[in-house]
Amino acid sequence: MCKKVIMIMLDGFGIPEKGWLNSIYSEFCDSRFVGLLSEFSIPVRTDMGIDGIPQSATGQTALFTGCNAAKIMGMHVQGFPDTKLREIICSQNLFSSLVKRGKKVAFANAYVRYTLEELERMRLKSVTTTMVESSIGWVRNLDYLQSGNAVYHDLTRKSIKSISPVQIISPKQAARDLLNISNDYDFTLFEYFLTDKAGHKSDLGILKEVLGDLTTFVCELVDSAMENTMIILAGDHGNCEDITTKKHTKNPVPFFVYGYPLPSKDRGIKSIENIYSFILEDIFKVPKSNLGVLNG
Ligand SMILES: [Zn+2]
Repeated sequence: MCKKVIMIMLDGFGIPEKGWLNSIYSEFCDSRFVGLLSEFSIPVRTDMGIDGIPQSATGQTALFTGCNAAKIMGMHVQGFPDTKLREIICSQNLFSSLVKRGKKVAFANAYVRYTLEELERMRLKSVTTTMVESSIGWVRNLDYLQSGNAVYHDLTRKSIKSISPVQIISPKQAARDLLNISNDYDFTLFEYFLTDKAGHKSDLGILKEVLGDLTTFVCELVDSAMENTMIILAGDHGNCEDITTKKHTKNPVPFFVYGYPLPSKDRGIKSIENIYSFILEDIFKVPKSNLGVLNG
């Protein structure tokens, strides 16, 4: 049976310097979640061989396009991708590469404040929004969210209660909604960035809530996923694992793969830009010669 993939992009979620145990994760997350991460993930680097602190625009571009975006730019670029990075994202990304091979892809995040056109005018296009715009062409709005056909970025919808009439749900329900959405697709992506926001605030109360929700969400995904569904977690750079700084970290990030063998050491998945080829080549069996990875 063909594998279905759910990928969670975890922003600002690195591996603690001293390992998973005795870390912020062992303090604020269920021990099962920490156990899953240590058993089913490998560390990947985020510096891409470039000095400086890893950032989101280049990190996410590398993760979703397979290009060494920091090397191409000569630096780590923060926030939203600029014109050059957007060109790279539009020329190849996980969505477009899968669509080209007849696969069905979905971006599960709900867009309730702005439409794609409004985001375009405001030039507030994240890496994932750029991917969606160039490869899918539409986004899941409030109607989708209300009917459980989208997931809000905070999982529970608490942060939009004041602007939209939505029912607050548990992180467990958010996981079930994501699993239901994924039934109709080969590849479903969800972006979670509150880990990065909490890391920038270095607020233990916020971090405890965010990591608690994330724990429940991921454990439910793993527990309730059908046998043909694999769960991937991958991030762009570290942040929330080190509360002594409000900045991103240079720590490696976990590449978590559940429901499929972890890449062996020989496979050479050592840096975030290697994940693109692993998903296409190893999981979706796209021939290497067909990958079209731009040289970085
Ligand atoms: Zn950040």
